[in-house]
Amino acid sequence: MEQIKNYIGGEFTDAISKQSLDNYEPATGLVYSKIPDSDDRDVSKAIVAASSAFAAWSATSREERSQYLKQIASAIMRDLESLARAESIDSGKPLALARTLDIPRSAKNFKFFASHILNMKSEVFVTDSSATNFIESSPLGVVSCISPWNLPLYLFTWKIAPALAAGNCVVAKPSEITPMTAYLLSKICAEVGLPNGVLNVVHGLGPKLGPTLVQDPRIKAISFTGSTRVGREISKMAAPYFKKLSLEMGGKNPNIIFADCNFDEAVKTSVRAAFLNQGQICLCGSRILIEKSIYEKFRDAFLIEAKKLKQGDPLEQDTDQGAIVSFEHYRKILACLENARAEGGQFLLGGRASNLKNRNEKGWFIEPTVIEGLGPFSKTNQEEIFGPVVSLQSFETEADAIQNANSTGYGLAASIWTNDQDLARRVSLKLESGIVWVNCWMLRDLRTPFGGVKDSGLGREGGDYALRFFSEAKTVCVKT
Ligand code: NAD
Repeated sequence: MEQIKNYIGGEFTDAISKQSLDNYEPATGLVYSKIPDSDDRDVSKAIVAASSAFAAWSATSREERSQYLKQIASAIMRDLESLARAESIDSGKPLALARTLDIPRSAKNFKFFASHILNMKSEVFVTDSSATNFIESSPLGVVSCISPWNLPLYLFTWKIAPALAAGNCVVAKPSEITPMTAYLLSKICAEVGLPNGVLNVVHGLGPKLGPTLVQDPRIKAISFTGSTRVGREISKMAAPYFKKLSLEMGGKNPNIIFADCNFDEAVKTSVRAAFLNQGQICLCGSRILIEKSIYEKFRDAFLIEAKKLKQGDPLEQDTDQGAIVSFEHYRKILACLENARAEGGQFLLGGRASNLKNRNEKGWFIEPTVIEGLGPFSKTNQEEIFGPVVSLQSFETEADAIQNANSTGYGLAASIWTNDQDLARRVSLKLESGIVWVNCWMLRDLRTPFGGVKDSGLGREGGDYALRFFSEAKTVCVKT
């Protein structure tokens, strides 16, 4: 059975405690590898390694750092097939999705920041004729990157790439539920000769490693993606130390369908937005708000399309719906379905665990589920389920749609479907959301700010926003 290792100071090691945790394959429900059950001693060792590497790494030129990032990107694409397979086995997501989304995007994260760091503009402010102000940007030092299980390598690299590009050294913690591709990435970094200690990967349980990753005085910033509950804990831990924080958290995203939309495109994309990765994407449109005049027509077309999704072994080429990432999460989703029943929701599709055969007999699968008949303030429509569950509601006016869309504590992403550009602009400005997609979903330009408002996030990732987060700006005012 493969033993995943920590990567600290360029060495691959077990946890100092010598303890391991089980790592499961969701599609079979069986343990298939072991990961280090690290503790604060391992994190401290990684912080020491990162601190020792910082002086030399921060003194490298942007071109040199860019070259390392490009080499990592190339190695990821060279290993596309094996990384995609590893991601699929580790997380339960369809292999086809890992191959076309997760792994190419992980390479793109490195490639993008390799080029973006070379194109960052320097700022100079001339104060009349009396002074010139140069804005100098320097790396922060050692930073923590903590990532979730739903897009394992994709989100891990989305933090690490800008942190390294800006000249920082990193202590990174992938989710203990999906550690495999982070381990494979650390092997790639060793192979391309990234200097020892520049990137350190420590595996293990969040609550055990969190306090040191957040509070150690040598950690200058924490970039976190995960649940709102844990984001809040990190925020509390970090507050007395004035650490720089970037928090990307949960969502309960509205997908608003106006009657004048391009109907077929709206239906097709809404099904994808509801169920991609078994609904385990923070951007999934889990609340579909449909203008009353087309409610039945849209609902029926949506159901026809959703029924076409093929659930099965994630490693099979034609599988659209794979397994749920962990037994704990599987049970949580089933409890949410029970709750929706108790609240009076009508199940138009799914609503139960699926029993697959053979290799997948003990795997954690849930049917794609469509619910109607619940109001905006039901628990089902308020709380993040993060599974293959979507609810349908109708609205009469533009104002109703906006009110319903904004009625949760979250504010990550929203979609609007209409051919009326004025309406789209009006509504998008009123939505409490970090991102609004008009007539599309999850279309990303990596230069744009990415993040949420309200309980969905603090700060922005992407392009200059990420590089600024991982840098300290200093004004040097020169009297002329
Ligand atoms: P989680 O919050 O349970 O875990 C995220 C990471 O934090 C893991 O690495 C975990 O080990 C670590 N962690 C747990 N407790 C910790 C602690 N006390 N201190 C420090 N670290 C700790 O989230 P998850 O279940 O892995 O991921 C699902 C959640 O992530 C969903 O809520 C989803 O919406 C959110 N998410 C948000 C975005 C976004 O960009 N906004 C993207 C993906 C996922």
